Amino acid sequence: MNDDDFDIEAVAQAARARGYDHMDVLRAQQEAAKAPPPPPTVIPEPEFPYPPQHALGGVVRFRCPFGCPWYHDENPGAEAPGRFMLPADFTQEDVTSAISLEAEARRNALLVRVERAITVHLAVDHPDR
Ligand SMILES: [Zn+2]
Repeated sequence: MNDDDFDIEAVAQAARARGYDHMDVLRAQQEAAKAPPPPPTVIPEPEFPYPPQHALGGVVRFRCPFGCPWYHDENPGAEAPGRFMLPADFTQEDVTSAISLEAEARRNALLVRVERAITVHLAVDHPDR
């Protein structure tokens, strides 16, 4: 299963059928995961400016799409993982689903941050484009 095949509603229905009491948390994770990422055309291809063994090896750099020296760095590997709850009788599927939801929510949040940074940069430094 890849991310595109992930059926969040099926997971939520299965959780409801088992009577989980953490549905508020799951719902919040679903909403975060469903938040639409910005259009890919706005976000340039990322660069990895440091080698993996470097202290900043996890940094992902997004350069100005118009080629000026501006860039926006993200370091997703340095973020603390988000929290999620599992029922007392959780299964491997529950764990996998919770991890996938949390990762998707963080990925979407990163894309939103990058899009905002680029949008602000374009408005400030390239207002005519
Ligand atoms: Zn620029």
